[in-house]
Amino acid sequence: MRYYPTMGLEIHAELLTDSKIFCTCSASFGGEPNTRCCPVCCGLPGTLPVLNRRAVEYIIKAGYVMNCDISRFTKWDRKNYFYPDLPKAYQISQMPRPVCLDGYVDITADGAEKRIRINRIHLEEDAGKLVHDEEQRISLADYNRCGIPLIEIVTEPDFHSAEEVTAFFEKIKLLLQYAGICDCRMEQGSIRCDVNISIAPEGSDVLGTRTELKNLNSMRAAERAIKAEIERQTELLDKGEKVIQQTRRFNDATGETVAMRSKEDAHDYRYFPDPDIPPIVFTEQELEDIRASLPEMPQQRMERYINEYGISGNDAAVIVGNKRISDFYDDAVSVCPSPKNVASYLVGEFMRRVNLGEIDPDNIPFSGRDFAKLTEYLYSDKLSQNNAKLVLTEMISSGRAPEAIADEMDLWIKEDTELLARTIDEIIANNPKAAEQYRSGDQKVFGFFMGKANKALKGAASPKAIQEYIRKKLSE
Ligand code: ZN
Ligand code: MN
Repeated sequence: MRYYPTMGLEIHAELLTDSKIFCTCSASFGGEPNTRCCPVCCGLPGTLPVLNRRAVEYIIKAGYVMNCDISRFTKWDRKNYFYPDLPKAYQISQMPRPVCLDGYVDITADGAEKRIRINRIHLEEDAGKLVHDEEQRISLADYNRCGIPLIEIVTEPDFHSAEEVTAFFEKIKLLLQYAGICDCRMEQGSIRCDVNISIAPEGSDVLGTRTELKNLNSMRAAERAIKAEIERQTELLDKGEKVIQQTRRFNDATGETVAMRSKEDAHDYRYFPDPDIPPIVFTEQELEDIRASLPEMPQQRMERYINEYGISGNDAAVIVGNKRISDFYDDAVSVCPSPKNVASYLVGEFMRRVNLGEIDPDNIPFSGRDFAKLTEYLYSDKLSQNNAKLVLTEMISSGRAPEAIADEMDLWIKEDTELLARTIDEIIANNPKAAEQYRSGDQKVFGFFMGKANKALKGAASPKAIQEYIRKKLSE
């Protein structure tokens, strides 16, 4: 039997506020265990939460960039469950009246455009973290993460392949980063993705029983987990067995999913209105002010690059596809007369170094302005291709300015016509056969002379000058 998979996502994203959602403790990542907590976020009896205004502003921004309706009235609920990383034994969240409802995000996957519907986005607090010490066989609780503001984005079951899931997740990351509300560092857990997944016979309009995949800590792991889970469910149904509704975890080492617990339904959490936090009613003006404060989003940036700078759609997509690289590019073009040249060297040589792992986009050791200067030297024939690469390598390791490096390593093109003539005359004299070949009409050997001259001159002359001189000499 052939089956058709259907998936929905729940994405948790930590907001980039300075303080936590209900207290003034720092919300930044890390810190010595249990040094960023207070009686409020540790859930001691008698404490009262105070809602962080910035967190509310950020979820509204998230709602706008995902085309949601923003509720004019929103309230808070307690989600009750006991877990060692949740000292209050309940999480403050939103059940029936979340801030954002009914949105959508368009993606491109498997070469096709597709619209993914967003069911809701709500605001809640993060739980702490358990650190398991396998050797001593103990678990330690770190409450630093307790109370960091989270948004939970819940989609409709609109996904039918792992590729669609990945494309959507990447798009959400971009939107949140550009909106400035989450840094989306999956390796630090600031964005997490759970996948609900079921399969049904092809053509059937009834959904099968779903399982939930949790703790997917990279997109590569998510893709493998989805494929493994579809396979597992297919085998079960083929054997005439049933899929059980449960939460499963992906084991990266074995490539298999394993059961964690049977999946709860909403009523298991005994949600009830939180009596400590009053509901919020937004005015139209408040919402409008927040919408107007949104920064430039990826689509607008793409259009600016294409329309104002004249760079190709492909190059623009590569640059905009990473917010940090796009910010770097904006910094570069602010001083550069040719945004087009910067774009091609960025998408070419710079991205090659990124892919080789030589440059970390999160931590570029030189400024966009210095990169712009380097491309200018290259395109105005002050540095040869090869020497520009040498300068870039040195910029990566020392962060120094390109002109200082080129001075020190003696890499500038000198346009020393005498040296040029002497070198090429010698090459031609030493290769009479090839020269004869060229003169009798075989243009292919021209490249041979170019190569030899480039090598001998080591960037001391521009390719154009070398080319002209060789051509002149050979047609004498
Ligand atoms: Zn606190
Ligand atoms: Mn949640």
